[in-house]
Amino acid sequence: MTTRHGFGERFTDHMVMLEWTADHGWAGRPRLLPFGTLAFSPATAGLHYGQVVFEGLKAHRRQDGTLAAFRPDAHARRFRQSARRLAMPELPDKLFLEAVDAFVGRGGELLPVDDPTLSLYLRPVLFASEPCLALRPAREYTFLLMGFVTGGFFSDQPDPVSVLVTRDFSRAAPGGTGQVKCAGNYAGAFLAQRAAADAGCHQVVWLDPVEHRWIEEMGGMNLFFVRGTGPAAEVVTPPLTGTLLPGVTRDTLLTLAAQRGFTVREERISVDQWRSHSESGVITETFACGTAALVTPVGEAHDGDDRWLIGSGKPGPVTMELRDALCDLHQGRAVDRHGWLRACAVAGDGAPA
Ligand SMILES: *Cc1c(COP(=O)(O)O)cnc(C)c1O
Repeated sequence: MTTRHGFGERFTDHMVMLEWTADHGWAGRPRLLPFGTLAFSPATAGLHYGQVVFEGLKAHRRQDGTLAAFRPDAHARRFRQSARRLAMPELPDKLFLEAVDAFVGRGGELLPVDDPTLSLYLRPVLFASEPCLALRPAREYTFLLMGFVTGGFFSDQPDPVSVLVTRDFSRAAPGGTGQVKCAGNYAGAFLAQRAAADAGCHQVVWLDPVEHRWIEEMGGMNLFFVRGTGPAAEVVTPPLTGTLLPGVTRDTLLTLAAQRGFTVREERISVDQWRSHSESGVITETFACGTAALVTPVGEAHDGDDRWLIGSGKPGPVTMELRDALCDLHQGRAVDRHGWLRACAVAGDGAPA
């Protein structure tokens, strides 16, 4: 019997761990351990100086009963890039994938064959675990991979979100850490998210940090805009300027949209264009995407005293088509043309490996 929980509140009873030291490098292979409390020195460097990077990826039960992680190689690569930016050791992709296999192999029985809406969310994290307050990159690090069962993001009709364009805060700066998944980026974003909630909106929309004009992201998700309707519709997303997080879902949807015959563009869109083109009907849909919530329609935007609806404010057809295409791929109903699914052998649940 699988129970549903809030996102990231309850964890599976296992995790994976591996250490790195400056003297010995990675300490062998990832180890599967019971999930539990860890003891650390109050001087743990990561707590003080923020050398903490993480990833978020998912594994799904496919229609044929097998379990597969979605694009773990892309997440492994980004995890290395994040570590490099924070002067941390890079976990080799092979060890990252080994950790994913070990974790999913043990967690597979948590995903019942008869409920494809459940998935396993995997959270790898790497942090400076050296007990030392010297102001330099730490000489000891700990890698952990934990996870939990998630569902409920898969309702047939996702609820559109309302968003507040923030004029007070920037998420990232040129030359900063906006294009990697480091913990500090999220701490820096919470206050803007709270301001959006106080204004009655679900999410914050980030503008570029220099001109405060170009749309970058929504909360912790990438944004897409649809121009026009039907097969001639254009699917547009902001280019990776260095202050956006290069989402794996973003990359996946760019490919899926092109495959489905849409014109795909990576192009800057200003907040003024977003408003005026939504009002004139040139922009027909807007959606956000990320591993956790897949594809989320944006129904309404607020910018100061300006408010506008996107389309009718309901999930649009291109949004839903791409969302379904992504779910079909995850759940093995569509052909995996790009080798994005990594099959994980599950110990003892009777599913074909
Ligand atoms: C993780 C993240 C995304 C989405 O990335 P995915 O790889 O698609 O999950 C987008 N924006 C930010 C700021 C993120 O942290």
